[in-house]
Amino acid sequence: DRLKDSKVYMRAWFDYTPLDDKATPCQEAGLPFKRGDILQVVTQDDPTWWQAKRVGDSNLRAGLIPSKQFQERPNVSGLRRSFRLSRKDRQGSSGEGFEPGDQEFLTYEEVARYQQRSNERPRLVVLIGSLGARINELKQRVIADNPHRYAVAVPHTTRPKKPHEKDGVEYHFVTKQQFDADVLNNKFIEHGEYKENQYGTSIEAVRSVQAKNKMCIVDVQPEVSRRIRNAEYHQEDRLRQKDEDLQEMRQSAIQIDQQYGHLVDRVLIKEDSASACAELRGVLERLERESFWVPLSWVR
Ligand code: 5GP
Repeated sequence: DRLKDSKVYMRAWFDYTPLDDKATPCQEAGLPFKRGDILQVVTQDDPTWWQAKRVGDSNLRAGLIPSKQFQERPNVSGLRRSFRLSRKDRQGSSGEGFEPGDQEFLTYEEVARYQQRSNERPRLVVLIGSLGARINELKQRVIADNPHRYAVAVPHTTRPKKPHEKDGVEYHFVTKQQFDADVLNNKFIEHGEYKENQYGTSIEAVRSVQAKNKMCIVDVQPEVSRRIRNAEYHQEDRLRQKDEDLQEMRQSAIQIDQQYGHLVDRVLIKEDSASACAELRGVLERLERESFWVPLSWVR
């Protein structure tokens, strides 16, 4: 009942230019769109060509778009293939980051509008980006400004407790044995090693922040966002931060976009700390008020 209507909406994961498409029965009737656009699919009667409108478009006439089946078909002409986002293109040459069972081509994803209800637990917000420590700093600043609304999940660690630290405050201090068992039992939404110690964020720690009616903010390695999105955790929205100044960071941002762009809901372009902070604050506030396009499976 959270679906506002029964219409079919798809998020497009590729750019489409009908004028470049030799396969279309009628170029003039085509509907151009860009990766990330939300399309309302009006009819799927034809297996090859759907009729769709772009959400937010003032043009009320539906146009032709290639159907999902057609776009994903393996043996069509070379031209068609160039429209597709191949697995190789998305992951670069490294060959990492893809798990078995991943869709080889992302074409369309069925989505629905989702509006948070006031009696639902606050969202988990996952930050990924190319700036590492600076994302953490951004997160800390936003929380420090508004500690009654936002909080971090208290992580687990196997490193020794420092004298000023308290168990359950800075970290949950656990033995290596306990940590490994928790990993095996899927208690963590993410974990990693740093200077030979293990660190991780547990589902439980996220839940306990949400139980206090606060939004939980975590920052993770980009590859983790895939797991979080596919796990029980589907209340999150992701932000990506990028820095145009440094070539390396730009490269990293591009790579994150190619590999993980489809998992990202909001992109934050960092110009300086203060404006990035203000922007993140704005996004978090909108998350509570506005509705969002989410995969249909999340609301069903
Ligand atoms: P420290 O031991 O100085 O408190 O933390 C050192 C480093 O551990 C942090 O800079 C960060 O890289 C890593 N770390 C801290 N908390 C977590 C966590 O929840 N998950 C992961 N993967 N790493 C963490």
